[in-house]
Amino acid sequence: MRIIRFHHGGQSHYGVLEGERVSVLTGDIFADWRVTSTHYDLAEVTLLVPVQPPSILCIGKNYKAHIEEFKSKPPAAPILFIKAANSLHDPGAPAPLPAPELTTQIDYEAELAVVIGRPARNVPEEKALDYVFGYTCANDVTARDWQAQDGQWARGKSLDGFCPIGPWIETELDPADLRIEGRLNGAVMQSSRTSMLIFSVPYLISYLSRGMTLLPGTVLLTGTPSGVGFARTPPVFLCHGDVYEVDIEGIGVLTNSFFLPGKD
Ligand code: MG
Repeated sequence: MRIIRFHHGGQSHYGVLEGERVSVLTGDIFADWRVTSTHYDLAEVTLLVPVQPPSILCIGKNYKAHIEEFKSKPPAAPILFIKAANSLHDPGAPAPLPAPELTTQIDYEAELAVVIGRPARNVPEEKALDYVFGYTCANDVTARDWQAQDGQWARGKSLDGFCPIGPWIETELDPADLRIEGRLNGAVMQSSRTSMLIFSVPYLISYLSRGMTLLPGTVLLTGTPSGVGFARTPPVFLCHGDVYEVDIEGIGVLTNSFFLPGKD
């Protein structure tokens, strides 16, 4: 099942998407909800970030080839950082680039995002997927210069528009071995499979839930494959007019263009 969040007629709703048909939901998508008799065509609605997360938890250095391109060593345990809620950005919506005097090293990161469905605390790995609501695509946009100068990554990961998520949540999916691809203006920059994750989705949920409740709606970004712009020769950074797509097998494509506010 595909769950979307969307804007129509001045209101936001959750819905179920079947083909091009959107059925409006009422209630709490993590508890008790039902499908109403109200329907729209997908073309009539504006997609929103598919969930409003209480936390955006992110894992760094979780694909071996990405660690090698950063000339880094595989971590002994998952590396956790956060993105702030202001960074969330709707699927399909042009995302603002920060002013060039702040940073010009803005990079893309295609990632599988996990949406937690019920409170997860001290969850064993073999039960971890029972706590998942579904999966979506994310772009962990990053200011590389801020990431390097701060040491702590949160600020360089949290500028406005730095966390596009969507286009919807797919609830029936096995995350173990999905093709994941990132494309810049149509050119493939990142291509891997989730089977290449160092720490798997069940392991990450179990690990993070130790003494820390993962609340319903929590979004977990699982790390990015190799091919990021910063590690290329010469480096590639997002510029005014660029389009980045995150394409994950079984989910769909998250597309966002990027623009410099004030420039044509
Ligand atoms: Mg990342």
